[in-house]
Amino acid sequence: MRQVIIIGSGPAGYTAAIYAARANLAPLLIASSVEVGGELMKTTEVDNYPGFAQGIQGPELMMQMQAQAERFGTEIILDDVTAMDLTGAVKTVTVGNGDAHDALSVIFATGSAYRKLGLKDEERLSGHGVSWCATCDGFFFRQKTIAVVGGGDSAMEEATFLTKFADKVYVIHRKDSLRASKAMQDRAFSDPKIEFVWNTEIAHIYGDDLVTGVGLIDVTDGAETTLELSGLFVAIGADPRTHLVHGQLDLNVDGTIAVQGRTSRTNLTGVFAAGDVIDPTYRQAVTAAASGTVAALDAEHFLASLPKNIVAAARQAESATVSA
Ligand code: NDP
Repeated sequence: MRQVIIIGSGPAGYTAAIYAARANLAPLLIASSVEVGGELMKTTEVDNYPGFAQGIQGPELMMQMQAQAERFGTEIILDDVTAMDLTGAVKTVTVGNGDAHDALSVIFATGSAYRKLGLKDEERLSGHGVSWCATCDGFFFRQKTIAVVGGGDSAMEEATFLTKFADKVYVIHRKDSLRASKAMQDRAFSDPKIEFVWNTEIAHIYGDDLVTGVGLIDVTDGAETTLELSGLFVAIGADPRTHLVHGQLDLNVDGTIAVQGRTSRTNLTGVFAAGDVIDPTYRQAVTAAASGTVAALDAEHFLASLPKNIVAAARQAESATVSA
């Protein structure tokens, strides 16, 4: 039995692992079979993570976080979690190969998945003009014409932010009115660089190596047009990855896991949540990392509050597993 199992290998999961490992909790981190490193593995240059004055590639940043977690004794399993039983004093996490891992505490940091348009060339051109993160990639579109798709707060925020770089920003929205808050709408409407394309869906993304344009459909009359662009920012929402804990952990109305106040404590004793899976608003690598820290400290305090013989038994079982 482990003292703590961390699920997720984004900035929240790895930072929780670094702190837990340095607190001698010998964490087991379950990464994922294919998406190790989380969303940052899909970005290129990361210029806003403190400590890297010249920027760092997203995958490199995540490999450094992984190495740092391993340096202090984190064990990492590259497999998908298939089931979890979090309700009892001993939590059980089952992975794809059928192995079941027990722990006294669990940190759940599975992140969120940006919604996709579902278009044929969207994945292929991801990182080559198609982006889900204006703060990460806006800088690469200086003096270009680009578009944001979506009608919520994220789309308005991204569009407004992108006018710092781009000469022209289209906002392409499938309706004739926005879902975004009035303040965000007003800011976007008053920006001379932003032009709205209403009642319009994107049917194609064009480009061989880089995005060159999009094919549009007017939903009111079916008319098809083409718009030349260098970049397309998809801002149609994100869904926290919570399917593994449905029925066990309380969720907020926006789908994130509910935590108590500024802590990472969920409704279940010994279960903590961190990163994008609890955050509908900020969703930055650095805020996720900070949230992972909070979770590791909360788990450490929780474990310290348990009767000593229970933790000693977990430690003994843990060293037996590691030496086997
Ligand atoms: P939302 O779910 O609020 O909005 C998503 C938008 O994308 C909607 O306009 C929706 O259209 C559109 N959309 C969804 N799917 C598709 C699709 N397949 N094709 C085209 N368009 C699509 O997500 P957000 O990320 O904007 O916001 C999430 C939450 O985060 C909200 O609560 C928001 O208030 C908050 N937030 C707050 C910010 C702030 O206060 N600074 C900044 C960013 C987000 P339709 O309207 O037709 O459904």
